[in-house]
Amino acid sequence: MTEVNTPGVAVVYHPDFACHDTGAASPEAVWRTEKVSAALRAAPFAGALRWVEPAPVEVQWLEWVHESGYRQYIEELCLSGRRELGDGETIVSERSYEVALLAAGAATRAVDAVMQEGHRAAFSCARPPGHHALRAQGMGFCLFNNVAIAAEYACGHYGLQRVAIVDWDVHHGNGTQEIFYASPHVLLCSVQQKDWWPFTGETHEDGAGEGKGLTVNVTAPAGSTGVDYERFFRERFEPAMAQFQPELILISAGFDAHGRDPLGEIALESADYARLTTLVTSWADRWAQGRVVSLLEGGYDEQGLVTSALAHVEALCTHRGRNGSAS
Ligand SMILES: [Zn+2]
Repeated sequence: MTEVNTPGVAVVYHPDFACHDTGAASPEAVWRTEKVSAALRAAPFAGALRWVEPAPVEVQWLEWVHESGYRQYIEELCLSGRRELGDGETIVSERSYEVALLAAGAATRAVDAVMQEGHRAAFSCARPPGHHALRAQGMGFCLFNNVAIAAEYACGHYGLQRVAIVDWDVHHGNGTQEIFYASPHVLLCSVQQKDWWPFTGETHEDGAGEGKGLTVNVTAPAGSTGVDYERFFRERFEPAMAQFQPELILISAGFDAHGRDPLGEIALESADYARLTTLVTSWADRWAQGRVVSLLEGGYDEQGLVTSALAHVEALCTHRGRNGSAS
């Protein structure tokens, strides 16, 4: 039986993530999860990590977020021999549907690790990423919206009423925003580069209906630094968290706001991701019993991605957890 206070951070990973073959030309390539997982295994803090293999997501959780017809479309597309989703950049291979189910399953498995198995935090080192996937349309390297599936799963399976998502990928998580725009159960705090693809996420986009005020967008000018980001987090996100009182915090952890990244123009350094992580875990300790689940999104420069992901996961390891244990 799993102890309630299992120490350490769960890392959810499967070698089959490499079977989503996007070719050599796509920035969202096979090396991303392979390099990050290898670096985590070799890290000085590797002893604090617990490796967990995911299973494909149950279709019922997927279909809380995505229309059934869309899921079938992706399945048929991958098997049909077509190699592109139609947006000019989202490449698929024969096994991509199967791997996308596995990536979504990694998201729900990461929620289990924190909600059920007592891990202080979990990191899903999975691909394809998810936060651009709309209810009925994939785009921007994303097929299924992993973080949205994790949020729905936390509510539907564990009965949570309030889940917060922090999205620091350099690109706006337009899919996540669309899915939860009118939801009273999900607070989305998102920072993205101003006037940058996919050209949504302006500050006036702040939710609708019962979700009014529960979408918080910050647009960061090109060249913004970690100091700027910390200020955005403290001034814009923290008051929203305090008011919302989340029971679980999810992170859409893209690392393409790193200064080296070819798909962004923000100037974060890897150490900034540690500081931002510590800030988010402090909110989790204050309001969410320490529960933090992080999911890999973007990050396309090898050095930038690997060093930032290491800094992020190391900071997850040093967070006190729900009972304040120091291990
Ligand atoms: Zn991105």
